[in-house]
Amino acid sequence: MKRNFEYTAGSLALNFVDTVADRHGSTIELLDTPNQLNQWLLRADNRFGEISITSVDFLAEAIALREAIYDCLNAALSSNKLPGISLDLINKFSSLPDFRPNIKANRIMYTAPDAEAAILSSIAADAVMLLGEASLMKLRRCPECQMIFKDNSRPQKRVWCSSSSGCGNRAKVRRHRANKG
Ligand SMILES: [Zn+2]
Repeated sequence: MKRNFEYTAGSLALNFVDTVADRHGSTIELLDTPNQLNQWLLRADNRFGEISITSVDFLAEAIALREAIYDCLNAALSSNKLPGISLDLINKFSSLPDFRPNIKANRIMYTAPDAEAAILSSIAADAVMLLGEASLMKLRRCPECQMIFKDNSRPQKRVWCSSSSGCGNRAKVRRHRANKG
């Protein structure tokens, strides 16, 4: 099945976490097959290029990393201690060799000894940067859809996610109706 992925959470790792829809409700897994992961990767990061994942085991590894990141974000947003097992997994992937840039004519190309390992390494490294003290201040949870996002705006007062579900607008309409009632 073709998926319409959104890349609106403000960082690579957060966009990856967002490949589960409606986490606080019916929980819809958007990465059921390696091909759906390929579709997501295509627009996730310009270093990834066109990579063709076929392995179900790789998909399972990627999902395990994604859920470890989600666990840590959840703990961080609730001011709980970050779960050790999840941190270990993130650090394990973050330690794998990542993509390196090189230049051909005037085009930047990204290569890695193992592209699949480099994908997980990139995502894990981004999660590490998010979970560091300074970035934690920018993490938000949308009060409407519960999506976790990074507030990259200058005033850092963003409340709602910017997904196409239009959460801020929905809440506004609801408030408006309540005031009228
Ligand atoms: Zn939302």
